[in-house]
Amino acid sequence: MTGDVQGLLAADEPAAARVLRETGTSDFFLTADHAGRRIPRSLGSLGLPPHELERHIAWDIGIAGVTERLAEALDATAVLQTYSRLVIDCNRNPTWPTAMPELSERTTIPGNVGLTPTAREARIAAVFTPYHARITGLLDARAAAGRRTVFVAMHSFTPSFKGESRAMHVGVLYNHDASFADALLRLLRAEPELVVGDNAPYAVTADSDYGIPVYGEQRGLRHVEVEIRQDLIAEPEGQAAWAELFARVMVAADSLAG
Ligand SMILES: [Zn+2]
Repeated sequence: MTGDVQGLLAADEPAAARVLRETGTSDFFLTADHAGRRIPRSLGSLGLPPHELERHIAWDIGIAGVTERLAEALDATAVLQTYSRLVIDCNRNPTWPTAMPELSERTTIPGNVGLTPTAREARIAAVFTPYHARITGLLDARAAAGRRTVFVAMHSFTPSFKGESRAMHVGVLYNHDASFADALLRLLRAEPELVVGDNAPYAVTADSDYGIPVYGEQRGLRHVEVEIRQDLIAEPEGQAAWAELFARVMVAADSLAG
């Protein structure tokens, strides 16, 4: 392993940001901070066995497939993050302890214990900064072109957390501005047999989230964070069904919210 900032990612490893439909025509702009579970080779396995790296602690299971299909259905630009949230969580301010967690749920992450400032900087430089620079650049370009943007942060949640199971299928999350979230909630609740969470299983806050406060609130963009339960989107069939549902309800909610 090298402590060199430039050395975290090898030349043949993919960039942190994967941009889909860069010239998409939709007002909707999608991000998926936890889409991937790659670990830079220079970090090995972070000291974890393979089964831990397949679990929800490493990534948002299924959300890449939903986001890809939703981007296609809407012709929307989407930015997906390639590396595991255990390397650096791109929905956290990188100065927070939760950005490179030593403990996730009940699992100690050996490769994150006692990180030096240099090691932290290397992860920020390799993953966080380029990923958010891509989002910032795309949003700036839309603003400069006078384009409207509805910012949607795509996530998925585990059906069972610390032994407690969750009946909810989908959550609609927001913080200070609930205008679009309210419309989306109304439409999702009108769907048969759907159990919908209002700011659940989590709530967005400026102390626990990065994307919604920075891109939605600070830029004054219409926005929402979506959480879909992972067992519903683990396979392509479920991903397609949820992308189809969201393509429909997001467009309708955008009209409903006025
Ligand atoms: Zn997530």
